[in-house]
Amino acid sequence: MITIYSDAHALHDGKAELHDGKLVSSFEMPRRAELVLARVKEVGLGPVSPPKIFGLDPVRRVHAPDYVAFLETAWDEWVAEHGEHDALPFTWIGPGMRRVVPDHIDGKLGYYSFDAGTPITAGTFRAIRSAADVALTGAELIVRGERAAFALTRPPGHHAHRACYGGYCFFNNAAVAAQALRDAGADRVAVLDIDYHHGNGTQDIFYSRGDVLFVSLHADPVQEYPYYLGFSDETGEGAGEGANANYPLPFGTGFHTWRAALDDALARIAAFRVDALVVSLGVDTYKGDPISRFRLDTADYPLIGAALAGAGLPTLFVMEGGYAVEAIGVNAVGVLQGFADVA
Ligand SMILES: [Zn+2]
Repeated sequence: MITIYSDAHALHDGKAELHDGKLVSSFEMPRRAELVLARVKEVGLGPVSPPKIFGLDPVRRVHAPDYVAFLETAWDEWVAEHGEHDALPFTWIGPGMRRVVPDHIDGKLGYYSFDAGTPITAGTFRAIRSAADVALTGAELIVRGERAAFALTRPPGHHAHRACYGGYCFFNNAAVAAQALRDAGADRVAVLDIDYHHGNGTQDIFYSRGDVLFVSLHADPVQEYPYYLGFSDETGEGAGEGANANYPLPFGTGFHTWRAALDDALARIAAFRVDALVVSLGVDTYKGDPISRFRLDTADYPLIGAALAGAGLPTLFVMEGGYAVEAIGVNAVGVLQGFADVA
């Protein structure tokens, strides 16, 4: 399996996020991707290639042009106002307020975001543009007939909506890739999100579309971030009715229960008759993850990969979360090895 990787991800290196009422060191750090890459090489998963440059047009297929333009200039606007430290929003639009784009960067940050855990840094835009290229390069490999590819994206993407960021995510790499697969001729595509957190951004982007099935296994939003999306009664709307499926699971979920949900999700994907599968690969389901509360173990991840291979679909893996940093390589690559052993 080919891995696509660019060290440009390290240009996004947030210092702090608001967590439990304190500013703490960012959980989402460059070392995450570096350790996944090291594991890819250690086990000999396959060649590692740099991304091709696709530009921003494929990104604008799933993100609003004004949102993309905001991200491009946000750091410079922030520095002009506040100096060269990470940009974090501190206020958001509440019910009864107006959705207007303010001129001031502090107002723009709140307008285009939904949390205070996602710093914008000097290199953020270059990093997220590169991550989109990584995902698009992986999608192109699938179009050319590869059985599978691994887009080692960082920062992650699945929390990024059409026009707002949060949850460490700016561009929705998996959604960009899924759209690219559609644009290259796939009639139907599925995005299966196995990150611990609900893929609220991906759901938002495809919610009213019947050509991209979105299926997510995640911690129940009544208990866990992102709280305001990811419930089981969200089934899509309009042309997208029936093309969205959420599997919220309680704190403490172990592999037996999680695997049963995965099997149900895979049956749903099989029934939808897609041409390709994009997997939002988060491994913060791991029992040692510092911000998550599922109980999956390292030995479970190859079994997940084998189950995914059983779907028999061209499959693009796109890296999402996982914050037990020292275990992220073994767990993420474990999924890929499990897939490759069966495929
Ligand atoms: Zn996550």
